[in-house]
Amino acid sequence: MIADLGVRLASALAAASSDCVVFDLTGVGSQYDHLVRELPGVIVRFAMKACPVDEVLTCLADRGAGFDAASPTEIEQALRLGVPADRIHYGNTVKSDANIAEAHRLGVRTFATDSVQDVAAVAAHAPGARVYCRLATSGEGALWGLSRKFGCSQDDAVRVLTAARAAGLTPAGLSVHVGSQQMTYEAWRQALDQLADTMVALLEQGIVLDHVNFGGGLPALGYLDRHGRSLEPPLDKMFAVLREGMDELRHLNAAPLAFVMEPGRHLVADHGAIRAHVYRLTERRQPDGELVHWLYLSCGKFNGLYEMDELCHRLVFPGHFDNEYVAAVVAGPTCDSDDAHAIAHRLVPKALTSGDPVWVLSAGAYATSYMTQGFNGFAPLPHTTVRDGIGRAGAAA
Ligand SMILES: *Cc1c(COP(=O)(O)O)cnc(C)c1O
Repeated sequence: MIADLGVRLASALAAASSDCVVFDLTGVGSQYDHLVRELPGVIVRFAMKACPVDEVLTCLADRGAGFDAASPTEIEQALRLGVPADRIHYGNTVKSDANIAEAHRLGVRTFATDSVQDVAAVAAHAPGARVYCRLATSGEGALWGLSRKFGCSQDDAVRVLTAARAAGLTPAGLSVHVGSQQMTYEAWRQALDQLADTMVALLEQGIVLDHVNFGGGLPALGYLDRHGRSLEPPLDKMFAVLREGMDELRHLNAAPLAFVMEPGRHLVADHGAIRAHVYRLTERRQPDGELVHWLYLSCGKFNGLYEMDELCHRLVFPGHFDNEYVAAVVAGPTCDSDDAHAIAHRLVPKALTSGDPVWVLSAGAYATSYMTQGFNGFAPLPHTTVRDGIGRAGAAA
């Protein structure tokens, strides 16, 4: 397990004497490099919500990444870090008039949309902007399908982009999001078919796009499923399907076509880990007579592990080389019964005692952003970053 973890993260976790989230910037950087090698020519706009940590954003921006922002506040954060406005798009289809006007004032000129109502608002508050229309996908095959709240049908997309043209906007592109932690390459194949069909229907209306946005959804590799088995998404096959799809879409289009991608968790999840500690390992008999072990940790759903009810994180118990293990339910410290790992029983060292450090792996995505303000008095975890073997304290999260 420590081998999976990497030397930089392991030494930073070992050096931490209190709870924190550690990000390995060198790891994030090489993950970005790998992605652009696999999908040559793709413009990466990191989905900020997955890790709105200045040092991580700067590390990506330094390599050329832009940002997918979902609110004026995210746009401001990116601008504050020196990212030019033309490398930021407003990727949220849900926005108020005031949000649109503020984003426009901040210099953002490209907006996601999926309805004629939103198009009218963009035309009024960001006149002349570029819009791209999000197509609804089934979300099948993803741990979190994003199917109902966002996106429209192919017919609607033609209506929406036609309305955009009539309102003086530039109908610039189409987008999809196949669902977060997408586990199948078929979902990408399906999305590519939807994009191709819609592009053809748009061409018939004289609308020629300049880009297609594949959204997020690329998986992290280090998670366990709800049964404690390692999730093994077919990432290489996904990249192959995407490369093939890019060729097809390029051939269909009547003009050069650019490709954008908005990865979130894929770039950061496996390069962040949490140093937490043991509260207590208990043994209780349930009303039905069953004897159950519970391992309570200092960190759970409300302070770093928001996604713990859908997936499991690998745990490392440094210093425990015991050969006695018990099967336990692992849970966070709060008075909320949702604050527990999905996995029913996992083997943990029997000798664990209060205060022992625990490392929670693949916790780099959505950890800081989904952290509560201090539910039950459990304060948000601070973070630190490490790079090329050099540790450095970061600002409090
Ligand atoms: C959340 C989000 C992403 C990132 O999703 P991941 O599954 O983390 O890759 C990308 N694009 C949009 C529009 C999003 O809302």
